[in-house]
Amino acid sequence: METLAGVTRMRLVGGNLALDFVNTRTGPPVGSPDDDVLTGYPELVAWGAYAGALSESEAKALRRLSHGDPGGAQAAFARSLRVRDDLDEVFRAVAADRSPSTSVLARLRDDEADALGHARLDRGRTFGWTWRDDASFARPLRPVVHAAVQLLTTGALDRIKGCGGCRFLFNDESKNRSRRWCSMDDCGTSEKIRRYVAARRTRTTG
Ligand SMILES: [Zn+2]
Repeated sequence: METLAGVTRMRLVGGNLALDFVNTRTGPPVGSPDDDVLTGYPELVAWGAYAGALSESEAKALRRLSHGDPGGAQAAFARSLRVRDDLDEVFRAVAADRSPSTSVLARLRDDEADALGHARLDRGRTFGWTWRDDASFARPLRPVVHAAVQLLTTGALDRIKGCGGCRFLFNDESKNRSRRWCSMDDCGTSEKIRRYVAARRTRTTG
C-alpha cells in the first residue's frame, strides 16, 4: 500500500494530464530520474483515478479485471511505461525548442489512433471524446495520450516548459509566460534559498 500512497502524494502541477503523467518520475532537471511512483498496474490505476483520468468506479472495475488476468495487466503496464518514455521525449524536446524524432511522433499517432478507436463522442457543452464504454486494460492511458496530442496540436508550444529545479514539465498558463518552477513552494523556494545563501557567501568573502 506504500506505493499506492506514493501515487497520491504526487503534485499535479503540469496543467495537463499528459505532462502530469510524465511527472510521475522525479529527479534533477537533467540526467536520469531518481524516483518513479509507477511501479505496477495497481499504481497506474491509482494514478489514473488521482489525476482524473478515471472515475472511482472505472478504477474499481480495472482492479477487478487485473486480478482475473495478471498477465494482461502487466502487458498494459509495460506499454504505459513505453508511452511515458515517448511523451517524456516529445515534451522535453518541445520544452527545449527542439523537434521530437519522427519515430516517436509516429508512435504517438498510433497510440492516439488506438485511443480514439476505443472512444465515443459524447455531448457536453461541445462534443468531446470519452472512454465511458472502454473497460480494457489500456483505459488509463487513453485520455493521457489524447491530452498529449491536444496540447501539441492546439496548445501554445512556447508555454511548455521544464522546471528550473527538477525534471517536472508544465504548461505555463501565467499571463506573462513567466513561470519557471513546477511550484513556488518547492523548487521556487529552494532556488530563492540557494540565491540567498550564494549572495551572503559573496558578501562575506568579497
Ligand atoms: Zn521543480
